[in-house]
Amino acid sequence: MEQQMHYGSDYKFIPATSIGSGVGIDVLPDIYSYTIQIVNIILIGNTQTQDYVLIDAGMPDSAEEIIELCNNRFGKNSRPKAIILTHGHFDHVGAIIELINHWGVPVYAHNLELPYLTGQKSYPEPDPTVEGGMVAKMSPFFPNEPINISDHVEKLPEDGSVPHLPEFRWIHTPGHTPGHISLFRDRDRALIVGDAFVTVKQEYLYKVMTQEQEISGPPRYLTPDWSSSKQSVQKLEALKPTVAITGHGLPMSGDLLTNSLYRLVEHFDDIAVPDFGRYVEKNKH
Ligand SMILES: [Zn+2]
Ligand SMILES: [Zn+2]
Repeated sequence: MEQQMHYGSDYKFIPATSIGSGVGIDVLPDIYSYTIQIVNIILIGNTQTQDYVLIDAGMPDSAEEIIELCNNRFGKNSRPKAIILTHGHFDHVGAIIELINHWGVPVYAHNLELPYLTGQKSYPEPDPTVEGGMVAKMSPFFPNEPINISDHVEKLPEDGSVPHLPEFRWIHTPGHTPGHISLFRDRDRALIVGDAFVTVKQEYLYKVMTQEQEISGPPRYLTPDWSSSKQSVQKLEALKPTVAITGHGLPMSGDLLTNSLYRLVEHFDDIAVPDFGRYVEKNKH
């Protein structure tokens, strides 16, 4: 029998925003990044052929905005071929159920992320005690219970290919969540990062609001595994991306990206790992 889709019982609109909210950037001719409040969704595809894929599904209550965005960019009543999730945090799946209902398209995520998308497992509680600012303090209000889209989500192919994005491969970048992925295109070394690292200090409200560009590890209040997180950043740095689009903050490219990523890898424990917090002691070494 069809299972009813539902969000977690703690699902709610989060009143946080940034100056980037509602702004889109053509990062590359076929890659468009758009900010919903404080998180980025990405559209990959050619506007001529209407052949496109949506990466991540925004904040709670943002479905109408996402659908309108797609209609404006790809034509009225256009729909993506699929939705690919970098991970299942509330700010990346916030509108997923309305989008599935509206478009009827498949959703893909990493095998290890499926428990959080099929009602089986909650994410660890966000850590408001972590070193950081106002957003970290607000984080107990963030939903962490699993959503259930069991009948609509499929695991990504084992061979690293990405359905409907033949030039891309997915890369397992755990740490922030167990089944976190990034997407990489070898041809131009374009990297869709998710939250494996971000370009804004996501814990600090004024930095989120102004989107001040500064490389950072994954958002601290929601990252339970810092040693995997470090390995994931090393893996991404080794790809030598030319442009990186992160789940939070502005896209980064060129020398700024190369140098920032190198610095993040070299000084990961100082830059990324918080000095204190619930998930730190057992992992920091
Ligand atoms: Zn996240
Ligand atoms: Zn996020």
